[in-house]
Amino acid sequence: MIIVMQKDSTKDQIEHVIDRIKELGYTPHPIYGETKTVIGAIGDERGKFRLESLASVPGVEVVMPILTPYKLVGRDLQVEPSTINIGGNSVGGDEFMLIAGPCSVENRDQVIATAEHVKKAGAQYLRGGAFKPRTSPYAFQGLEEEGLKLLKEASELTGLKIVTEVITPSDVLLVAKYADVLQVGARNMHNFSLLKDLGKLNKPIILKRGMSATVQDLLMAAEYIASEGNPNVILCERGIRTFETATRNTLDLSAVPLLKSRTHLPVIVDPSHGTGIHDLIAPMSNAAVACGADGLIVEVHPDPEKAFSDGAQSLLPSEFVALVKEMKKYLKIVGKKL
Ligand code: PEP
Ligand code: MN
Repeated sequence: MIIVMQKDSTKDQIEHVIDRIKELGYTPHPIYGETKTVIGAIGDERGKFRLESLASVPGVEVVMPILTPYKLVGRDLQVEPSTINIGGNSVGGDEFMLIAGPCSVENRDQVIATAEHVKKAGAQYLRGGAFKPRTSPYAFQGLEEEGLKLLKEASELTGLKIVTEVITPSDVLLVAKYADVLQVGARNMHNFSLLKDLGKLNKPIILKRGMSATVQDLLMAAEYIASEGNPNVILCERGIRTFETATRNTLDLSAVPLLKSRTHLPVIVDPSHGTGIHDLIAPMSNAAVACGADGLIVEVHPDPEKAFSDGAQSLLPSEFVALVKEMKKYLKIVGKKL
């Protein structure tokens, strides 16, 4: 921790702070500047919150951490961006991760037809929820293991890799049996027991930003997974709640370059949940590429009108083809390949 003293702090105040740092079991390293004194407090990281109380001591301006609190996922210890290998594909380097598919797995025909369409359009991953975290308990909750089996079948037929959500710690091993990448949804970003269990897996995790989570909250959630031993975390900006009601969420694209400056983890964007509006998906996809996203996750349904969930924001396969075609121009500019 660093304790910054106020400009007009007295010698006695500085000495008092130095004594308190020692009493708390830390070694003080004062730097006496021309206008301000700054004191480094070095010691056991785990107890450093005790130093935060020094903020109330007279003469102290601010107490702040030396390193970011997200040590493993931050850029302090690893400057270079991470590239995560996913069975022959990769994310975080110059390869763009394109994930597409329905919001929910509904039936065999729907999943297989969607898989074939999105594969043809250029996606490498099929998405689809078998366990759905719905806001209403009366809404469709997913086909569960039956849905996972349908995803697997679609994967075997098309070669697409599977991205699907896990919503509870007790299902982690079951979902991991079928999925190539496990998704943590926005509603679960703060489910720390789920994050810890996913940290014990050796499969990549897509971690979606919570609806009211700050960039730092998202990074700390990723740190939970990494600190349990799984460094393969892909962050996903999927929109946050703001006062704006014209869109389902406010897609915070500024979070993409911001995250990338703070973490070495890949960052992808979900323009479907991020806007909730069909016509905004393609422009926001292009914008996501332009601002440095490492991938996209897009909802595509063969018959959006009849979708069990999120039909209004789902693209028809033909619309997804058009989106990819247009987006390729932007990929070329930023030097990423599909
Ligand atoms: C989803 O991807 O279908 C989903 C539920 O997304 P989110 O968790 O971002 O709402
Ligand atoms: Mn959805």
